[in-house]
Amino acid sequence: MSRTRKIYLEESEMPRKWYNIQADMPNKMLPPLHPGTKQPLSPDDLAPLFPMELIKQEVSQEKWIEIPEEVQDVYRIWRPSPLVRARNFEKLLDAPVRIYFKNESVSPAGSHKPNTAVPQAYYNYKEGVKKIITETGAGQWGSALSFATQFFGIDLQVFMVKVSYNQKPYRKSMVNTWGGQIAPSPSTMTEAGRKVLELDPNSPGSLGIAISEAVEMAVKDPDAKYSLGSVLNHVLLHQTIIGEEAIKQFSKTNDYPDVVIGCFGGGSNFAGISFPFIRLNLCQGKKTRLVAVEPESCPKLTRGVFHYDFGDTMGMTPLLPMYTLGHNFMPPKIHAGGLRYHGAGPIVSQLLKDKLIEATAVHQLESFDAGVKFARSEGIIPAPESTHAIAQVIKEANRAREEGKNKTILFNLSGHGLVDMASYDQYFAGNLQDYSVSEKQIKDSVAELDIFPAE
Ligand SMILES: *Cc1c(COP(=O)(O)O)cnc(C)c1O
Repeated sequence: MSRTRKIYLEESEMPRKWYNIQADMPNKMLPPLHPGTKQPLSPDDLAPLFPMELIKQEVSQEKWIEIPEEVQDVYRIWRPSPLVRARNFEKLLDAPVRIYFKNESVSPAGSHKPNTAVPQAYYNYKEGVKKIITETGAGQWGSALSFATQFFGIDLQVFMVKVSYNQKPYRKSMVNTWGGQIAPSPSTMTEAGRKVLELDPNSPGSLGIAISEAVEMAVKDPDAKYSLGSVLNHVLLHQTIIGEEAIKQFSKTNDYPDVVIGCFGGGSNFAGISFPFIRLNLCQGKKTRLVAVEPESCPKLTRGVFHYDFGDTMGMTPLLPMYTLGHNFMPPKIHAGGLRYHGAGPIVSQLLKDKLIEATAVHQLESFDAGVKFARSEGIIPAPESTHAIAQVIKEANRAREEGKNKTILFNLSGHGLVDMASYDQYFAGNLQDYSVSEKQIKDSVAELDIFPAE
């Protein structure tokens, strides 16, 4: 046992239910509001965008939700994912810590995103949807959804943020290989895209703009629905299989995490690894710390405001109560494209407000440095997003050394970086820099929110 590196589960031990944290939250979230009337949304308002089963999951208060057999069948292509003891990385850090990571990079798309792409494709298929339209930041979501839709015979159109489309051409190839269509955003295919291009023909795009394009196209096509890879409650729900597996895996060791760490874009991989541990904090008196790590260049959790805001730039999505930098906030072009989003999921926002989780921010260079250290000790090249979690692991290890305290750390390796090597090249060439967002930029961007209801 002492030299064990990987703790596996048998396929038969894979969890059969997702954990719905809404059932256990001490304070419920404020309701989403209709973008036009600013009144609480009814499930019917979402029907043009999502299949009914996902809308039900969005508002469900049931603690456990069955994973359909057909979804389990696809999950078994790569799940259960290994829990790995990072022994070489521990040795490198030389601190009194045991470090584990959940390796979500083993999925076919190389990230945690297929955990929700598969059930989303499945529920659309069950309700007769022929086509799904979505957006993608760094390309992971688009590729994950392309992987998932083909199992259920659904067509896919992806809008990819232009700056990433140019930086990461192989994500486009992956989408095409699995059968999906993909266009850079802003595009001329939608009114939203054309409007942005009119104002700024060189717009690098943003996730908010791409969402506007996808939502517009989905609403105009009666056979199509929209799909989102993060932020929403049902997305976070599907990701909880990560943490539920990890809990089963820890039960095969003598260990249990003191701190659980995940990088943070909209909240899905962080939620996936942390919510099941929050469940044990709330229901069994455990005291694990949960730490969300965002980039300094897009600091919604650490410097944003808790306020109703749109999920997109054009104001087409419902208003959600969340920590936000304002929907017009344009994050610098950092290489962790999947973390360039202005807001945080409503559940994670409420948990942060209630101090059930913590948030911190790290700079780009520190993250890449941590990623390279990890690659040179553990062998796996992490996604630029995941390196933010690894940078925080190093900080936790340093703190444990200073305090002379033993600590068990778990982090989510949300993906590998093999399709992001251009970013590593830029880092090695010394072309990357840290970006600090000024107080003024945040203040100006957040000031625009005053036209919406406050909390
Ligand atoms: C998309 C992505 C993220 C960020 O999104 P979350 O919803 O916050 O998890 C992080 N890591 C990887 C590898 C991703 O693909």
